[in-house]
Amino acid sequence: LVTVLRDYKFTVNPRTHVPVQPSPISLMYDAIGGSGVNLGVPLESLGKLFLQMCNTRHNTTAVIDIKSGESLTYGQLCQLATNLAASLRLLGVKKDTILGVVAENSHKFVVTYLAGFFLAAPLHLINPTFTEYELHELLSLSKPTIVLCSKSSLGNVVKVKDELGFIKTVISFDGVVESKQKILAYADLIKESEGFQIEEDVDLENQVGLILNSSGTSGLPKGVMVTQKMLWLNFVQSRDPNRFQMKPEEVVPLVVPLFHVYGVIVVNVTLYSGATVAVFDRFKPEALLKTIEEYKVEQLFLVPYLINFLGKTHLVERFDLSSVAQVWSGGSPLFDEDAKMVQTRLHLDKLHVMYGLTESGIVTHTSHSKNGSSGTVMCGHRVKVVDPQTGVALPPLDHGEICVGDNVMKGYLANPEKTREAFDAEGFFRTGDIGYYDDAGALYVVGRSKDIIKYKSFQVSPAELENILVKHPQVRDAAVVGKADHKFGEVPVAFVVRDEGATVTGEEICDFVAGFVSVGKRLHGGVRFVEAIPKNTTGKISRKELTRRFEKEE
Ligand code: AMP
Repeated sequence: LVTVLRDYKFTVNPRTHVPVQPSPISLMYDAIGGSGVNLGVPLESLGKLFLQMCNTRHNTTAVIDIKSGESLTYGQLCQLATNLAASLRLLGVKKDTILGVVAENSHKFVVTYLAGFFLAAPLHLINPTFTEYELHELLSLSKPTIVLCSKSSLGNVVKVKDELGFIKTVISFDGVVESKQKILAYADLIKESEGFQIEEDVDLENQVGLILNSSGTSGLPKGVMVTQKMLWLNFVQSRDPNRFQMKPEEVVPLVVPLFHVYGVIVVNVTLYSGATVAVFDRFKPEALLKTIEEYKVEQLFLVPYLINFLGKTHLVERFDLSSVAQVWSGGSPLFDEDAKMVQTRLHLDKLHVMYGLTESGIVTHTSHSKNGSSGTVMCGHRVKVVDPQTGVALPPLDHGEICVGDNVMKGYLANPEKTREAFDAEGFFRTGDIGYYDDAGALYVVGRSKDIIKYKSFQVSPAELENILVKHPQVRDAAVVGKADHKFGEVPVAFVVRDEGATVTGEEICDFVAGFVSVGKRLHGGVRFVEAIPKNTTGKISRKELTRRFEKEE
């Protein structure tokens, strides 16, 4: 299926359709992803496609909520999503009205997810463990007038509503709490939908379906505009016999969060396969293993941190996991050792590594158990590896920056400058990842040139933490870098220059940072005091030099 095209020439920029200077480049390109191939998925809006699937599978279970024990058939899911969409429309939501959603996985989140597509109202999905400080930053990007949230985040959402004038309505998934504010209850909004029609006027290429968060290549939080076309490709990929095929009778656990692109992919593929998604509010090892045994789960979508856990925990021996045939790993690099460990312990037929990023909206590569490789390119994408200095495309085996063309984000919300910087002259998105591909077109990701740290596969932005560190009255300068960690992938370490005579300790600095950010972004690698932060001639922190200090320690 995979064709490696060399010396391929563009005549137009695929994003802007502006003619470009033809240049010889080397591309990886999936033959079935060529123009016009859709594996039988009509080029319709996601709202329409979800609706069609719900009608076809009316009495089949669509969602099982592991925490609450509730389940919904496709018919019920559709009805609730329609009712919620109708209520939101009465509250003034129109096509393109951005809605904030701050929640962990639940059946209510899945209902809201579908309602967003029924309205063609982009959902800005946000981690519910985020602090008031983080919520303030992210909601300021998208400025939603309505925010839906779970109980765990309600307190912070209400505080942020007071600070940010634009949020007019908060909808609580879990009942009304005591507050001076007017908070609407989700339960009151899912009762009826008289006369509701889903939004028909959707141009897939341009319609923003979701806004997801990423620090991009330069560090600070940005809202990635994911188009419906990118998400539509998940549906196409679910029909690809060599990729994500799922049987309609399968139950697929959703342990990765739906506020991240990975969770979005799992929900899209599962629901468009007419299968059942078992949602977990968070990773609970025993509950997951019990679910696998009870529903004879065949495929698991995990991150390396969870694979490492499953490869080691003795809990595995207490359950019958023989139904599991395939495990998918995504979100960050998977250590070979962990891959082998889990493959042996679960007697897996297949362990697939996936590569992709929020900006690509979906997975661009999946492997077929080839050691160390992230696999071959998925349909709908073209990928090239370029010399980071010259931008010239490189042949197989040469290391360079991985760039993804076609069906990538529309841009960073309200940030034209960063959007421009993110694309090259030929309209390819510059991933900030370093890698190469072999003669068979398999991709190997070997490093990162961008400033992000991946802790348990969650993005941690060094720039965000540095901005917090320098707020400390005794800190003169600071730099944050990721240190490789076998269990967590990477942990953020702060290098700190203290003011003269300062007495602040590393522990106090960690606590200071923890006052601003959620648990996932804390300084899990600790603080190191230094005399000066190494910088290059333009004043940019030399992270490479700081990372080299870890290498010396090994
Ligand atoms: P996110 O946008 O949070 O999904 O993060 C995407 C980033 O995670 C990529 O740019 C890579 O740096 C990293 N990543 C994802 N998948 C892989 C993989 N298979 N191998 C190496 N790095 C990966």
